[in-house]
Amino acid sequence: MIGKLYLVATPIGNLEDITLRALRILKEVDLIAAEDTRQTLKLLNHYDIKKPLISNHRHNEENREDILIEKLKEGKNVAVVSDAGTPGISDPGEVIAKKAIEEGIEVIPIPGACAAISALIASGLDTKEFVFYGFLPLNKKLRKEKLEEIEVETKTAIIYEAPHKLKETLKDFSGILGNREVVLAREITKIHEEFIRGSIEEIIQKSENLKGEIILLIEGTKKEKKENFLNNLDLKDHYNFYEKQGLEKKEIIKKIAKDRGVSKNEIYKQFI
Ligand code: SAM
Repeated sequence: MIGKLYLVATPIGNLEDITLRALRILKEVDLIAAEDTRQTLKLLNHYDIKKPLISNHRHNEENREDILIEKLKEGKNVAVVSDAGTPGISDPGEVIAKKAIEEGIEVIPIPGACAAISALIASGLDTKEFVFYGFLPLNKKLRKEKLEEIEVETKTAIIYEAPHKLKETLKDFSGILGNREVVLAREITKIHEEFIRGSIEEIIQKSENLKGEIILLIEGTKKEKKENFLNNLDLKDHYNFYEKQGLEKKEIIKKIAKDRGVSKNEIYKQFI
């Protein structure tokens, strides 16, 4: 019988934030694949769990997948954990999950802490609809495209940020967000947990020399602002805006027609 792959969420700062089921699974599996085995060892020691560990970090995830799949095929149950929070969310987990599914192996989520969701629910921003951007790209062109996307994003945007890049990111947002509410969530579940709220310019003033783990949340813009922005573009740029987001032609035409309040045929005709 082949084994099962468990994606197990671990705490994001407070060791109590782990479910009873997660602890049971970690005790029962044959092998734990960890982003950083030293980090995971601290958690396992705290809960007196002794298990073989194998490292599965970003740089070896693609190579490790074959070893893990082999173990699963031998009938071993494997748990994947990251340093903190939910595997696969800006952390290793996605590659092995995809591969396991391709191989017909059962993939089981063991839910728990996720920094993005924790920040969102306490942000005071709209939680009905939100977009998770993860870390912004470092490549200048890709970063500019992402910033343009967020500038007209109508849903709450959630962005992960490293403390040493915070200043630069806030500067990038300065001047493009108007009076949209921004929330900086820091050190969630830890001693120095705090939520700083205000406009982007206020956040810049309040966040000098901030340390620790940080998430930025940005209130969605008004729908009219997005429509005005898009409808002031010429058709080609309007098309490019959606194409950069990776949408297919059919989907793009549908969106443009909706933005401009015209039929899809009318847009198609202009592209012929
Ligand atoms: N897989 C994790 C999750 O489920 O949230 C995210 C891992 S990602 C490599 C690390 C980023 O998550 C940090 O740079 C920060 O933006 C955010 N983060 C993680 N823990 C946090 C915490 N306790 N407080 C605030 N942000 C946190």
